[in-house]
Amino acid sequence: MDLQELKEMIAGKLIENEPMKNHTSYGIGGSALAFIEPKSVKDLQLVRSFASNHIVPIYCVGGGSNLLVSDDGINGFVISLEKSFKKVLFHENTCYAEAGVKLSKLVKECIKRNFKGLETLIGIPGTLGGALIMNAGAFGNEISKYLVAVDILNDKGIVEQKSADEIGFSYRSSTFNKNDILLSAEFRLDKSSEIEIRKNRDSANQQRKSTQPLKYRSAGSVFKNPKEFAAGYLIDHVGLKGKSIGGAIVSDIHANFIINQDNAKADDVMSLIKLIRETVYKKYSITLELEITTLGFPEGTFNA
Ligand SMILES: Cc1cc2nc3c(=O)[nH]c(=O)nc-3n(C[C@H](O)[C@H](O)[C@H](O)COP(=O)(O)OP(=O)(O)OC[C@H]3O[C@@H](n4cnc5c(N)ncnc54)[C@H](O)[C@@H]3O)c2cc1C
Repeated sequence: MDLQELKEMIAGKLIENEPMKNHTSYGIGGSALAFIEPKSVKDLQLVRSFASNHIVPIYCVGGGSNLLVSDDGINGFVISLEKSFKKVLFHENTCYAEAGVKLSKLVKECIKRNFKGLETLIGIPGTLGGALIMNAGAFGNEISKYLVAVDILNDKGIVEQKSADEIGFSYRSSTFNKNDILLSAEFRLDKSSEIEIRKNRDSANQQRKSTQPLKYRSAGSVFKNPKEFAAGYLIDHVGLKGKSIGGAIVSDIHANFIINQDNAKADDVMSLIKLIRETVYKKYSITLELEITTLGFPEGTFNA
């Protein structure tokens, strides 16, 4: 496969053997075959068809703030929309935004216009695309609540619009097809008082700062909260707060955060994940489900 050929076909950028640690909030991850920043939908279609002709898998990522990438890297093309898919437009009560825009930027634009709804999501890192795939949420609120429709590039390279009703959203999950590339989304938001919106934002900011280890590199909550208890509570109560393996450590501020404290490897984080799951299961008979997304690991690595 001649990557130079693809490089010359697209208007965007293609970097060969790019370390994914440069593109994850963990600062962890081996190299991707190619890291591609397309300039347009046409670029995306060209990449998709080139990849399919050469039987190379493609993975679209956002800000990498929910990702654990293996030390061996990713044997595929990684696509990032962060550079060129960043438009945000408002018309009456509708907000249209492209998937590569930072979620925090989108939230700030809504707050500026006194649109209520997204302000409690202010501190969630990453892009709009990642937030929709993950159905990101905080403090009882979720991004999908305000969604009207999305545009996606499907696995055949065709742009399709889907209404929010056609997509299933639940706690930190959505039913987008595995190969869909989310291009943009439309939200309906209601106006409210500036004071109320800013109060909600400040309270969310304050709670986040006081409960999360924000000074350190992480991917946020590693596990979803089971119905019975918060994952952090369970991890704390099996005595694993502060437990470290290699350069990774279970945060002593929030036990559901595994931090990259000192040049951690993906293997260090993976070993902590396994240890936490086994220990919590032994004591509570609860299987912790991963919230973070893992890329580049052999199938079954994270089976509970
Ligand atoms: C300090 C910290 C705090 C956090 N707090 C929260 C929180 O309060 N609530 C919460 O929900 N999350 C939280 N997170 C996790 C994370 O920020 C969210 O899941 C975020 O929405 C991920 O967005 P991203 O752009 O970084 O996605 P990525 O991590 O890059 O990707 C996540 C998933 O989305 C897919 N994806 C991304 N963009 C696209 C696209 N355009 N098309 C198709 N697929 C795509 C990826 O393939 C991957 O499967 C936190 C993380 C950190 C580091």
